[in-house]
Amino acid sequence: MRKKYALVNRNLCVACGECAYQCPRSAIQIYKGSYAMVDASICIGCGICAKNCPAGSIKLEEKINDKI
Ligand code: SF4
Ligand code: SF4
Repeated sequence: MRKKYALVNRNLCVACGECAYQCPRSAIQIYKGSYAMVDASICIGCGICAKNCPAGSIKLEEKINDKI
């Protein structure tokens, strides 16, 4: 079964930090205060960040393998 991970659209992200706050795996960091970055090797694809993003800038994508 393929795993999923969260992918941030940097153009939509307003760097509010909500996703990073909600992520149960601490897989998200706000890069230089400008947009959210997901560490796909830690992300478990739960979708909590995507549900709570006020800008709708996170989507879940399928992992091709575990190393992206
Ligand atoms: S999908 Fe879940 S584990 Fe992955 S970054 Fe979002 S909240 Fe964290
Ligand atoms: S919740 Fe959405 S808008 Fe806020 S930092 Fe995360 S991706 Fe960006």
